[in-house]
Parts: sequence; C-alpha cells; structure tokens
Amino acid sequence: MASIAFIGVGNMGGGMALNLAKAGHDVRAFDLSADALARVAAGGCTVATSAIEAATGADAIVTMLPAGSHVRAAYEGGLFDAAGPDAILIDCSTIDVATAKSLGEAAAARGLAMVDAPVSGGTAAADGGTLTFMVGGPADAFERARPILEKMGKAVIHAGGAGMGQAAKICNNMILGATMIATAEAFVLAEKLGLDAQTFFDISSKASGQSWSMTSYCPVPGPVPTSPANRDYQGGFAAALMLKDLKLAMAAAQGAGASVPMGADAASLYQLMVNNGGGNSDFSAIIRLLRG
Ligand code: NAD
Repeated sequence: MASIAFIGVGNMGGGMALNLAKAGHDVRAFDLSADALARVAAGGCTVATSAIEAATGADAIVTMLPAGSHVRAAYEGGLFDAAGPDAILIDCSTIDVATAKSLGEAAAARGLAMVDAPVSGGTAAADGGTLTFMVGGPADAFERARPILEKMGKAVIHAGGAGMGQAAKICNNMILGATMIATAEAFVLAEKLGLDAQTFFDISSKASGQSWSMTSYCPVPGPVPTSPANRDYQGGFAAALMLKDLKLAMAAAQGAGASVPMGADAASLYQLMVNNGGGNSDFSAIIRLLRG
C-alpha cells in the first residue's frame, strides 16, 4: 500500500482521505484547520505538521484546496521541492484551466508526473467514495493516478493533457447551470399558466425538454423525491460553488475566445442569487429568484 500525502481535508477532502485510509493506504494529512484534521485523524489518517512534512517521501501527493491561488502556492511553495522523483501529484481541487495547465507544465519540466483531477459529486459522494474524476495530464501519469482515484470514486476518465480535467469540469457545470435555470423557468411559467407541476414533469421528463436538472434534480418538490427542493433546498450543491464554477468557465471562455452567452446569463443570475444571500442554498433554489 502506498504512502499518500493529502493536503486540504475539508468538506470534500476529508471524506476522500478517509476512503484512502480505509483502503489500507498510509495517509498523512495536512490542513490549516485543526477541526478538519481531527476528523481524519479519528478515521485512521496520520496528521502532519506541514504540507512539506506530509509530502516528503510520499508515493503520492493529493491536494483538495479552495482555488487556483491556494493550489499554486502549495505546489510552488514547497510541494514540488518535497516530492520525490517517483511521486505522482494529483490536484483534485476545482481551479482555473490556465493554472492547472501551467502547474502541469511546471511539474513536467521538473521531471514530475502530475494530473489535474477535479471531481463531480458533492460531499455525500466524497464520503461514499462515489465521485467522478475528470483527469488531465500525460497518459502515463493518468495510469499511475488511476488506482488511487478509484479508491475515492466510481468513475475515472482521462480527458486529455494538462488542464483538460478542469476544462471538462467547467464545461459540464456550465451546461448544468444553464439547464437548471431553463428547467426552473419552465416550471415557474407552467405554474403561472395553471399547469400542474407533477403533470408537467410527467410530460416533459419524457419529451424533448428532459435533462438531468429535471429528472434527477427537479427544482420543485414532489416529482423527484431525492432532489434538494424536497428539503427546502438545503444540502446538495451550494449556489456559491455553482457561481465559482461558472466564473471559471467565463474566464476560460474569455481566454479561448469562445462565445458563451447562455453561460454568461447563468453566471449573472447565480451572482444575483448569491448577492441576495442565497449562496448556501442548493443551486436549484434559483427557482425562488425566478418566481420574483
Ligand atoms: P473546504 O473549504 O471545505 O475545504 C478546503 C480545505 O482546504 C479547508 O479545510 C482549508 O482549511 C484547507 N486549506 C486551505 N488552504 C490550505 C493550505 N494552504 N494548506 C492546507 N490546507 C489548506 O472546501 P471543499 O468543499 O472541500 O472544496 C474543495 C475543492 O473541491 C474546491 O476546489 C471546490 O470547488 C471543489 N468541489 C467542491 C464540491 C462540494 O460540493 N463541496 C464539489 C465538487 C468540487
């Protein structure tokens, strides 16, 4: 079994690190939060006093940090130097494509294997080991990362070279943000026209308006019992995180010269929702904003 440094054991990283420990790996965790470290220590991880201490001599280094600036600071501020020549570096955070690409290139220039491996799935999937990983980086680095990622997820997919995991993640979530708004708008219009929500669902979920936002995550209570709409939009995927991903998509689109008018509208509406204090609600609560 491998010795794995895990940097950033918060809401997502905590469950992921615990799944690696459960699989028999020697997990050395580091986080700035004592509470986050206490949780993983109770589940069998060893607590390190710094990221560098955790990474020194490790077979793999996994990071799960808030944003690109934290990830860059962690790798350039010590992890690249602490990593042994045979270590595999895996960044699972959701960050901007440009930073992911440049860190992948910096690792390669040092002769280190690195992948960007952002996840789809929230804290329940992180705890349950059922995340989907979208992985960018050289094919041999992907093959080395795969057995570790498989202990934390149900699907591990190679998306291409450095940064392409992040590209897949933000393109996917741009669809999700836009389809949720389109679905919520349709339910609001149906309501105002006097069309029963369940009846509309029964029709549209079998017609061309069907999407994951409707059939797995319906924004009105009733038709899909597991959707956050049935629990007052608590839990699920916070609107603030959707906004974060949409902003990353907008920045990437600007850099690539891509026209993304639907994504831009979705970003503005989620910004409004967050400004109105809705950032902690599930993103499907955008329907409340649309009701006016
Ligand atoms: P979080 O804030 O709960 O966890 C981040 C952890 O990183 C915190 O515990 C923080 O103390 C720690 N940290 C920050 N800087 C550090 C440093 N320099 N050294 C060590 N530890 C440091 O956030 P999260 O919800 O776990 O999200 C982590 C990443 O996963 C983000 O990039 C997020 O966008 C992505 N993500 C989150 C979800 C979700 O549902 N929460 C879903 C998919 C992807």
